[in-house]
Amino acid sequence: MQRKGDVVSNESLANLLKEERRFAPPVELAAAANVTAEAYEQAKADRLGFWAEQARRLTWATEPTETLDWSNPPFAKWFADGKLNVAYNCVDRHVEAGNGERVAIHFEGEPGDSRALTYAELKDEVSRAAHALTELGVEKGDRVAVYLPMIPEAVIAMLACARIGAAHSVVFGGFSADAIAARIKDADAKVVITADGGYRRGKPSALKPAVDEAVSRVEGVQKVLVVQRTKQDVAWTEGRDVWWHEITGRQSTEHTPEAFDAEHPLFILYTSGTTGKPKGILHTSGGYLTQTAYTHHAVFDLKPETDVYWCTADVGWVTGHSYITYGPLANGATQVMYEGTPDTPHQGRFWEIVQKYGVTILYTAPTAIRTFMKWGDDIPAKFDLSSLRVLGSVGEPINPEAWMWYRKNIGADKCPIVDTWWQTETGAMMISPLPGVTETKPGSAQRALPGIAATVVDDEANEVPDGGGGYLVLTEPWPSMLRTIWGDDQRFIDTYWSRFQDRYFAGDGAKKDEDGDIWLLGRVDDVMLVSGHNISTTEVESALVSHPSVAEAAVVGAADETTGQAIVAFVILRGTANAEDEGLVADLRNHVGATLGPIAKPKRILPVAELPKTRSGKIMRRLLRDVAENRELGDVTTLTDSSVMELIQTRLPAAPSED
Ligand code: ATP
Ligand code: MG
Repeated sequence: MQRKGDVVSNESLANLLKEERRFAPPVELAAAANVTAEAYEQAKADRLGFWAEQARRLTWATEPTETLDWSNPPFAKWFADGKLNVAYNCVDRHVEAGNGERVAIHFEGEPGDSRALTYAELKDEVSRAAHALTELGVEKGDRVAVYLPMIPEAVIAMLACARIGAAHSVVFGGFSADAIAARIKDADAKVVITADGGYRRGKPSALKPAVDEAVSRVEGVQKVLVVQRTKQDVAWTEGRDVWWHEITGRQSTEHTPEAFDAEHPLFILYTSGTTGKPKGILHTSGGYLTQTAYTHHAVFDLKPETDVYWCTADVGWVTGHSYITYGPLANGATQVMYEGTPDTPHQGRFWEIVQKYGVTILYTAPTAIRTFMKWGDDIPAKFDLSSLRVLGSVGEPINPEAWMWYRKNIGADKCPIVDTWWQTETGAMMISPLPGVTETKPGSAQRALPGIAATVVDDEANEVPDGGGGYLVLTEPWPSMLRTIWGDDQRFIDTYWSRFQDRYFAGDGAKKDEDGDIWLLGRVDDVMLVSGHNISTTEVESALVSHPSVAEAAVVGAADETTGQAIVAFVILRGTANAEDEGLVADLRNHVGATLGPIAKPKRILPVAELPKTRSGKIMRRLLRDVAENRELGDVTTLTDSSVMELIQTRLPAAPSED
């Protein structure tokens, strides 16, 4: 008997591969691309030599002579005898190279205030903040928790920690006191950096009260450093609380960066919690910065002199760490940073920002793209998006329909889309098209990047042939890989390295098409087993989203007496569709049946107003499964809005629809 999630069978997966649309790289972009097809060959011939060469993008205080030490797997060391300062690489060296006047960050506040920070100014700010942390007693090897809105001080705080060798633990600014307390405790943070508040949905939203509550519950926090953003009233603990502007304001802008070992801890970051309790992922310095810088250069084709780059993620997620702070700044990029929500004060805010700053490279998530689809094509059409030249996606599998919408409505049918697969654990992009090389396919992340080894295996760890499906694994260590789960080496081994010997198991299902290109199928935990057939949630969801009445869909397998599991679909309808329309539900079931085959027809389809998502915008199918099986809900600490689950629970008693 097959166990649920054991293998993603071939027959159910044939459907995604019906996708036959292909898009060649734009000729002009290809002609001047940073990276050409040769990179794959070069990395294949000498993988370690390739990474050693990429490490030379960085400025080392002591050049590494070693590349990889894999003598004690799965504990990797990269460039171990090298020494560097990460903040120096992200800031000072650009000023020294004569680019101090280049804008590093165009900050756009939600209320419409803006601020441009040049590399020279960033260097001054980071230096002052580094001195301030030292004055507050932070030393090399300590941990600092950061709980800030999307303002430049978030980046400055991270770089200041890096500059003095303290590891930061950034906690997403929307999390509760509980989540902050748990993360402070797990990492044993000595100082917390927060703000009075930030602007969200048109009004100031307090941050400090959650920190005050969290700090009162845990031992060990000596100082709370408070950035003034909204000027709202805050409670103040004398002797513990310190205003950021006061302490940094009196520091020198001269600060000599100390060089640290390449394997010195850079940060701890907790995963999104989509599949369960978040894990504290540890990243170190030299290898992490090498791969974030290389991938940012290669995958976005970044030209630092002319591009304006914008990543819409929050700094609280790994995407914000690697592709707002470290990768772009190591490359001397000019970027936009936006504080607020995409619909404040209107649903065209993102496109207004693209137009205002002449954004050339945009990196966002499928959840955002599906929301823009729901809002309508007319909204982006009102703005001049002609500056755009490369579009990126990250966070979830992107449905082919959403991909096509993104290409047409945002990319004017000319910008290549790079669908980048990676994880908090991988630290940097792993599988993605290259914009000047790859002929793209809507919905596929396509191919491991140069220097990266990924494949798909079956239950017995055998590599599946082209056309086969199974588990995504990484077969060789990579520079930006996690080094462990903070404080729990055994959990690190058990979680990632024990399912398939010597290979890193990512937890995701995937399929290789006939060209060997990789299609992500969602989490293995989410795969459904219906009457002996494995069916991936991604496929059924993509089929639903390809129906004109559906904006978003989440599909789960719920225990079923006759079929083992039955497919239950939760759908958000587009503007004009009526949730009470019984005919529509039947129509949707038939649409899935026609697209994927009768076996994939959902047993129940429930129109809902919202789906449970993590704060990073990913659908939490495990909670929907709990609801569908009448279980108590699992860990909800990373859920955006708990009332969503109550609303969904009230919809559930509806009678199952019959065939
Ligand atoms: P947790 O591990 O706590 O459950 P999480 O996996 O959501 O949380 P992240 O590290 O933020 O935390 O997300 C990585 C996961 O996101 C990947 O394993 C994959 O499932 C999904 N993902 C990211 N990018 C893509 C992509 N381009 N295509 C498909 N899936 C993606
Ligand atoms: Mg994960």
